[in-house]
Amino acid sequence: MATMTLDKLTKTYDDGFTAVDALSLDIKDGEFVVLVGPSGCGKSTTLRMIAGLESINAGSLCIGEREVNRVHPKDRDIAMVFQNYALYPHLTVAENMGFALRMSRTPKQERNERVNKAAALLGLESILDKKPGQLSGGQRQRVALGRAIVRKPAAFLFDEPLSNLDPDRRVATRAEIRRIQRDLGTTTVYVTHDHEEAMALGDKIVILKDGVLQQVGTPEEVYDNPANLFVGTFLGSPRMNAIPATLSLDDGSPHAVVRFGERTVRVPVDRDRVVGDAKDGSAVTLGIRPHCVHLIDGSGESTSQAQFSGKVIDVEHLGFASDLIVDVGGFELSVRTDGESRVRLNETAHLKVLPADMHVFTA
Ligand code: ATP
Repeated sequence: MATMTLDKLTKTYDDGFTAVDALSLDIKDGEFVVLVGPSGCGKSTTLRMIAGLESINAGSLCIGEREVNRVHPKDRDIAMVFQNYALYPHLTVAENMGFALRMSRTPKQERNERVNKAAALLGLESILDKKPGQLSGGQRQRVALGRAIVRKPAAFLFDEPLSNLDPDRRVATRAEIRRIQRDLGTTTVYVTHDHEEAMALGDKIVILKDGVLQQVGTPEEVYDNPANLFVGTFLGSPRMNAIPATLSLDDGSPHAVVRFGERTVRVPVDRDRVVGDAKDGSAVTLGIRPHCVHLIDGSGESTSQAQFSGKVIDVEHLGFASDLIVDVGGFELSVRTDGESRVRLNETAHLKVLPADMHVFTA
């Protein structure tokens, strides 16, 4: 078991490129932390610094109370699971799982007990005598996980462990990883570029961009209260709408003033939804999640309550929901409705958003 403390951790490569810039982070004992961000944001570099596979240029890394900046990887008491499973092809599943214990001269009986226990946890009992070449991708990934578990490390590090699996297996295996991590209570740092995977797995999500920390929080916190436009648009599918606007505070109640082609629309926003230091007249970006845009039909609420109207230029039927693209004065607004959409392609959609669902980001 271990806490981890990253204090202004920095990695500048030999060519002068800073891949991770003064990253500070507290990881609690037993916590499942996911590092997420687009390709090149520095998440693997961070993980590799924690593992000891990459040197640290500045800042400090503590595992428990001990600073480990210069501690050899094998002495950090952590186990890493990669996207390529790196199993020994000539060894059986049981031998692969017990390999590290054999190297550390753990007695055979204890080794077998630990391998059998991990195999039971992962449902691998029936394939312990098989070789990696005889296994499916999902089974190989579970063996790689088993190999990490038998070591009983203080922490697990995962680098995109599911990216070689097909979508169904990915979802099943990620649920398994979550369950096992909960059962074992082992501190875990997990890297992915997939925001859905991050939301599904993490107790805490760490969002990085260009080597710089953007936000840390629970999945709910970062989704409901994104710290900036990048976080807002990175998390969630379909993507958050990002509409250029001007902030108006002149009459005391904040409004976003949006130009849709010839029309200017003033939409009320909540003051506590205004992120950053935007002032009256500031150029801002209005962030609206597609599922927060509500269709208004003539039969129920009056269309006069609509804030935006436009022609539906695309419809995707998902069964449980429909995704629409509505052309509002040249802006292609993404809208998600429950079930079957009430408006069809080429019809006019009348739309409304609650003030609490409008995020105002400094542009
Ligand atoms: P991905 O999801 O594509 O793996 P990542 O977020 O894990 O991306 P890193 O692998 O941490 O990104 O790389 C961060 C940045 O550092 C990238 O821009 C990459 O090109 C750069 N980088 C990585 N290794 C080196 C190196 N040895 N020398 C110089 N730059 C490097």
